[in-house]
Amino acid sequence: MNELLTLDAAELARRLHAREVSSVEVTRAHLERIEAVDGNGDGDGGPDGVHAFLHVDAEGALAAAEAADRAIADGGPASALAGVPIALKDNLTTIDMPTTCASRILEGWRPPYDATVVARLRAAGLVPLGKTNLDEFAMGSSTENSAFGPSRNPWDLSRIPGGSGGGSSAAVAAGEAPLALGSDTGGSIRQPGAVTGTVGVKPTYGTVSRFGLVAFSSSLDQIGPCARSVLDAALLHEVIGGHDPRDQTSVDAPLPPVVEAALAGARGDLAGVRVGVVSQFAGEGYQPGVSAAFTDAVRVLGELGADVVEVSCPSFSYALPAYYLIAPSEASSNLARFDAMRYGLRVGDDGTRSTDDVMSLTREVGFGAEVKRRIMIGTYALSAGSYDALYGKAQRARTLIVRDFTAAFETCDVLVSPTTPTTAFPIGERADDPLAIYLADLCTIPSNLAGNAALSVPCGTSADDGLPVGLQVMAPALADDRAYRVAAAYETARGESTGPRIPELRALEGSR
Ligand code: GLN
Repeated sequence: MNELLTLDAAELARRLHAREVSSVEVTRAHLERIEAVDGNGDGDGGPDGVHAFLHVDAEGALAAAEAADRAIADGGPASALAGVPIALKDNLTTIDMPTTCASRILEGWRPPYDATVVARLRAAGLVPLGKTNLDEFAMGSSTENSAFGPSRNPWDLSRIPGGSGGGSSAAVAAGEAPLALGSDTGGSIRQPGAVTGTVGVKPTYGTVSRFGLVAFSSSLDQIGPCARSVLDAALLHEVIGGHDPRDQTSVDAPLPPVVEAALAGARGDLAGVRVGVVSQFAGEGYQPGVSAAFTDAVRVLGELGADVVEVSCPSFSYALPAYYLIAPSEASSNLARFDAMRYGLRVGDDGTRSTDDVMSLTREVGFGAEVKRRIMIGTYALSAGSYDALYGKAQRARTLIVRDFTAAFETCDVLVSPTTPTTAFPIGERADDPLAIYLADLCTIPSNLAGNAALSVPCGTSADDGLPVGLQVMAPALADDRAYRVAAAYETARGESTGPRIPELRALEGSR
């Protein structure tokens, strides 16, 4: 494998700035890697690859790389990550590439503007490689709900790479991109991070602009970094974060010092840091190898000097049912805009049908089964007869979850848990059982409901199947830096052997 593909973004950036390598070379290496391992899942007889990408823009990427090289040669832009390639989840709008949300209903749609995060990346000189696969409209935990076929986990191509942002995390894990952006509504950055052995961060709600993120559940959606190290995630976080007047829920406050925290964590110990182990996130349903890896991670935190205590957050048991009422309710409203008139697909518009009929035909054909399920659940939960018993009750449970976090953060600086109860499951294994798939988000959802910061950092592999496990670190709102510090200290203490690695994909590389 080309050495450039194995470097983390911070080291790539150092070499780019020192002009030891050009962005065009780095970008080419990644485009070749995509060509070699991504496949297309079209069942044409060739082996199905990782299928992390829905769209690759080689020409655009090389042009951006040339511009970055010129800027570096001229002494600017001085952005730390200038010239580094990045992959974008395909629910972020891009003016020069399609945005499909992995749905048929957006077929052929070209957004007329860039998402704020995309505009910020471009301004900082990063190089967008293309758009990554996801569960349709980010609804899922396995990327199996994509209308364009599943992505595959680079650690074992027969398994899921998590979801909904499986494409972004798989691209980073497979060496197809050193960085990626995801969106996390209930865990869609952290859970794919955990099962692909990469870092995934959900920043505090409102601290990264949602302008240009196709809305799923607006009170929960949050864009964040996917990376191979905690420092890389922090560097990217700094580029995309900060106030944006175009997002009504954007927090007008300075971004927490995440890069400083990652550097401090990597250099220092955790003396005096109070770490709470959430007692609800253990026991039945947790794979023994995941629990063992988590217990070992907690031991390492203790060895680093942290004061480890157990904390109880009893209301977290309501998080999953509350989320699966609130998120579909908001989705049923947000997805009403896909009405065959304004975007993408239009079915049956032959002059003989009414507008209503064209709308329903288009939605019938354009949305997949999971999206329809969510729209129906959400519409029902918001209907006059059940609003209070369902949506209202879920909102009250949300308040209790916020209170549990507030109480826990009175005695703890951060909380920790496994990121997800099991390692990557085989593609198809849970296909007929949506509830089993929903369980993958058991540990990640509370932080979305409360809006606080949380990340997943690799914590070795599970002894029962050799697959990656993630350690989740949760911090109070606007204290993202605490999670970065703890994760960086942990990552450094564990060393490379258990950190992110790029798995061998020889079978694919050799076949093309
Ligand atoms: N898996 C969760 C869902 O299906 C979370 C999705 C997300 O974070 N985008 O709703």
